[in-house]
Amino acid sequence: MDVGNSALAVECPNCGLLTPRFLQYCRNCAFALWPSGPVASAAFQRWRDADPARRYARRYDMELPRRLEPEVIDYEERAHRLGIHIFPSSNFPIVICLGFFFMALGAVPLATPARIALLAIGLAIFLIGVGGWVVFEDTHMYEEVVSEDEASEESGD
Ligand SMILES: [Zn+2]
Repeated sequence: MDVGNSALAVECPNCGLLTPRFLQYCRNCAFALWPSGPVASAAFQRWRDADPARRYARRYDMELPRRLEPEVIDYEERAHRLGIHIFPSSNFPIVICLGFFFMALGAVPLATPARIALLAIGLAIFLIGVGGWVVFEDTHMYEEVVSEDEASEESGD
C-alpha cells in the first residue's frame, strides 16, 4: 500500500467512479476494493498515522476535512475597527433593577412619607447603578480604547 499517496478517494477499477479509498467495497458498484474490512481499516490507520495532517481523516471521507475547530473571533477588536461601541460587561444592571424595585414599592398605597422615602431610596440606588455603569465603567473602557489609538498613531509615524 502506498502511504505516500495522500488521496482519500480513488477511481474504482470496476466502474471508474470516485469512491473512498479505504472502504472495503466501492460505494458506487460494490466492487471489493479490499479483501476484508479489517484489512482496509488497518491500511487506513497506517495511512493516517503516516502524516499528522491526516489526523482528522475518516475512512469514508473523499477528501481531508478542512477545519474542525470553530473560528475564534475577537468581537471587541472587530467592533472597535468598525467604530461600534460595545458596553462593558457589568454587574451594575443588577443595582439598577434593585433601584427599580424600591421605586415600585413607592407605588404601594402606604403612608405618604413612607412612599416618598421608598421613591427617594429607589431613585438613589438607580442613579448609583446608572452612574456606575455608564459613567464609571464605560468611560474607563473608552479611555483604554483612546490610549490604544494614540499609541498606534505614534508608532505609525
Ligand atoms: Zn465501482
